[in-house]
Amino acid sequence: MNKSIRNAGQRCQRLSQSFPKDNLVAGLLLLLFIFSCSPRSENSLKLLRSANAYSEKGKVVITAFKSMHYWGEEHRDLYREIRIYRLSCPDFVFGKDYEEYFSDLDFKDGECIFQGSLEPILGSKYRFVDDATETGAVYAYWIAASAGKPTGPLPVKIRDEQVWWPYHRVMERLEELQNQYPRLVKVEEIGKSVNRKPLLAVRIGHEKKAVALIGAIHAGESGPELIIPVVQKLLEQNSDLFRRISLVVIPSVNCDRRDKLAAGNPWYLRRNANNVDLNRNFPADWDHVDQTYGYMTSDPDAQTFRGPYAASEPETIAVMDYLRKNKPVAVFSFHCLASIAGETLGISKAGAESQEYVNRCSTFADLYWQGVASPFAEKQKIVPLCTSGSLPEWCYRELGIPAFDMEEPFDPKDLAQCAIDATDRELLAKYQDIHYRGFVELLTRAPDEVSNPQ
Ligand SMILES: [Zn+2]
Repeated sequence: MNKSIRNAGQRCQRLSQSFPKDNLVAGLLLLLFIFSCSPRSENSLKLLRSANAYSEKGKVVITAFKSMHYWGEEHRDLYREIRIYRLSCPDFVFGKDYEEYFSDLDFKDGECIFQGSLEPILGSKYRFVDDATETGAVYAYWIAASAGKPTGPLPVKIRDEQVWWPYHRVMERLEELQNQYPRLVKVEEIGKSVNRKPLLAVRIGHEKKAVALIGAIHAGESGPELIIPVVQKLLEQNSDLFRRISLVVIPSVNCDRRDKLAAGNPWYLRRNANNVDLNRNFPADWDHVDQTYGYMTSDPDAQTFRGPYAASEPETIAVMDYLRKNKPVAVFSFHCLASIAGETLGISKAGAESQEYVNRCSTFADLYWQGVASPFAEKQKIVPLCTSGSLPEWCYRELGIPAFDMEEPFDPKDLAQCAIDATDRELLAKYQDIHYRGFVELLTRAPDEVSNPQ
């Protein structure tokens, strides 16, 4: 047993002999004190706390801090040896498995990938980098010190940074575009996320008439990886288009949680950092409780929680202000899964009851689909699927403009691939091309109709 722990136990014994036994309060205090300093058995020692694992440039970084119980220099021996365990989780399924998949995993089923000494940073933090990982793989890690129990499991998925762009990549690519096309491209900050990341928007062109592209309102879905390459290709190959129309773009609305996915959170994330579904938070029939996917939007535990009140989230407010200011003629919001949005176009359910609104939406949808020229011709029909509190619902009710949630790919093979987060560079490139074709046609022939405030 550790010497200092034994000493603490002896100290407790001596104190109990000298304490007045007829004082009930003092007795209780004594019990509390004994409990708080009672010796811990060696094999139950949790020597490491606040452990974390995340992926960065294809490697996994594992960090942990010394337990506050054994923080001092006198406990140095307890940390003479650090061990890292790794368990591969090939049967984890994105979209079906969540945190609970990892809860009962055992480090004994994994392999010990490191055993040796590590110098603690500032005497308290351990950091280990595993560079023998495979892109696309899901792992659980544990970290242990000497005789202590391993701390974990720490789940992580190795995602390709070309397929799930980290926030810094979004920023860099926007800056590159602005530097390359200074007369056409203007990047601006339109607010801050819950975690105080700048929310970035980019305007391409100076024409008043504009189409809006909105990305990643749902973290685990799509946005910057499709939108920014489409914008870049439009600038490279069709920059004349911007003489008649502009694009106003917010590539990554839910940037906090999206960065968590890029950094290896294995399971689907939808809500923002306040656990609010941004696509239920807009002030558009917000009071109406919707039930979808087995969730109630009024339930704070639900994946579709609408928030404590309408427009409670800074991301929602930033999107609203930006669209009010720019008055686009149509809005396309990118959804579906794992960096891919397909050609399915959903509109406001309430708006779908107005034939006049459906006709206006169809004008834009048909132009987009003509550009795409999909072989799945039978699927080209707008779907009334956007519920109360969603962005399309708000665009319909407040701005009176056609607005679409872009959902499933028409090709079922592609849907099956992105649905399990198996999107690779090839599939991503295919959908960058599909949307490029769709938006070239849309921007070329978009009607001059401007927003129609009610
Ligand atoms: Zn979505």
